[in-house]
Amino acid sequence: MATITQRVVRNARRRGLTVLTRPQWGSRYGSVYVWRRLFKRAHQPADTVVQHITVTFDSGKLVGDFKTDMRTIERIGYERFKSGFSYNFAVDMRDGTIGVGQPLDAKGTHTVNDKNVRGFSRDQNLRARAIAVIGMPGDQLSKDAEAAIVQLLAAMVDEGAVTPGFDYEPHSKFAYKDCPCGPTRDRMPAIRAAVNKAVRRPKR
Ligand SMILES: [Zn+2]
Repeated sequence: MATITQRVVRNARRRGLTVLTRPQWGSRYGSVYVWRRLFKRAHQPADTVVQHITVTFDSGKLVGDFKTDMRTIERIGYERFKSGFSYNFAVDMRDGTIGVGQPLDAKGTHTVNDKNVRGFSRDQNLRARAIAVIGMPGDQLSKDAEAAIVQLLAAMVDEGAVTPGFDYEPHSKFAYKDCPCGPTRDRMPAIRAAVNKAVRRPKR
């Protein structure tokens, strides 16, 4: 039987998105995810999706590529939290290529409700899923990347990974950090509204 992550990836690809799985981008910490799916399980479905930015140098501009970016983000997550990839998905801010990170049924290491925002529990890693745009502060979110996030979120709703009425929130709502930064945060209300139109309607 397919995992929830595999189902979302399949759905996202049917929507025309380019999605690279962990083996495809060269993940180096495979056993970490096996362990987390067993012992660090996330509550399903999620009622919140938190948007982040990786603040990793865009290697594509110079020497590397998307796969290098993914491996860099994974290494940082492993060094800081021993969790491997902190986020469930990462999206290239230029062309909307998507990489699979933390499995959707395992806890990520992305968001704690440090501001004690009412209506949200403290450990959002248990309740929320996370998407990160790959880039540095000041980078613009391209139209292609914005459209990719809409379709990815719709695929997550379709497959039951997140609730249809999910809250789509910037990390800065919960933490004293400018994450995911203005260019992405400013587009979030439009992205959230577009998801409602992009989800597959149940047949009756
Ligand atoms: Zn963040």
